[in-house]
Amino acid sequence: MARRRQVYEGKAKVLFEGPEPGTLVQYFKDDATAFNNQKKGVIVGKGVINNRISEYIMMRLNEIGIPTHFVRRLNMREQLVREVEIIPLEVVVRNVAAGSLSTRLGIEEGTALPRSILEFYYKNDKLGDPMVSEEHITAFGWASTQEIDDVMALALRINDFLIGLFLGIGIRLIDFKLEFGRYWENNDEMRIILADEITPDSCRLWDSATNEKMDKDRFRRDLGGVAEAYQEVARRLGILPEAGPRDFKGPTVMQ
Ligand code: UDP
Repeated sequence: MARRRQVYEGKAKVLFEGPEPGTLVQYFKDDATAFNNQKKGVIVGKGVINNRISEYIMMRLNEIGIPTHFVRRLNMREQLVREVEIIPLEVVVRNVAAGSLSTRLGIEEGTALPRSILEFYYKNDKLGDPMVSEEHITAFGWASTQEIDDVMALALRINDFLIGLFLGIGIRLIDFKLEFGRYWENNDEMRIILADEITPDSCRLWDSATNEKMDKDRFRRDLGGVAEAYQEVARRLGILPEAGPRDFKGPTVMQ
C-alpha cells in the first residue's frame, strides 16, 4: 500500500495528506511532552481517547454554529480535518487561576478569576511559546485586528459552551488552549475556524466534587493515573472507546 505523505509531525499528533484536496488526516499519538519538550513520556491509549474526546467536542461545537476543522472520525486514532493555514498563536482561556498564571502573578491555584481571561502566546518552540499582546500580533503580521476580534469572540463562545458541558458531568473547566486557522471557502472567502484539538492534553479539568486533576497536569506533575483520568473524562462524556457508534449514549448528567 502506498505510504501516505506526512505533512507535519507535532508532539502529540501527526498530520498526513488527506484523501481529497483541502483535507488532512490528523493522527493522535500516545506521546506526551511537557515543559517545552524537556519532559517526555508515553501515556498508553491516550491517542485513542483524545481522538474520541476531540471528535465529540468539535461535533458539539459545530452543532452550536462554531466553525471547526473537524470533518469526521476515520478510525481509532485518526480523524479527517479541513486543511487550514494555522494562525501561529496559542489562545489560552482561563476561568480559574492555575499553571503559568499562578506562577507569574502569584495567585494561588484554584482562585476563581473575576472574569474569564484570554491570553495569546506566539507558537514558536525555539522561543518557548512566549506570551504576546495584540500589538505584537498585528505589528508582526501574525493576524489582523479583524482576525483577532474573530478569534476572541469564538474563544469566549467556546468557553461558555464548554463550561456548561463539563459542569454537567461534574468537571470544572479551569483553563484551556485553542488554535485557529484560516479556511478558504469557495476559493475566495476566508473565515477563521477552530483547528487542532480540545482534549485533556490542552485543558485543565478538575473534578467538581474533589478538585482532583483529570488532565495533563497528572503527567506534568507526576501524579500517576494519567490514562485513567483521561478515560474517566471520556466515560463521563459517554464516549469510552469500547463503545461503538451504536452504543453512543451521550454525557451522563451528574447531580
Ligand atoms: N496549554 C497547552 N499547550 C501549551 C501550553 C499550554 O495545551 O503549549 C494549555 C494547558 O494545558 C492549560 C492552558 O493551556 O490548560 C494554560 O497553560 P499555562 O499557560 O498555565 O501553561 P503550563 O502551566 O501548562 O505551562
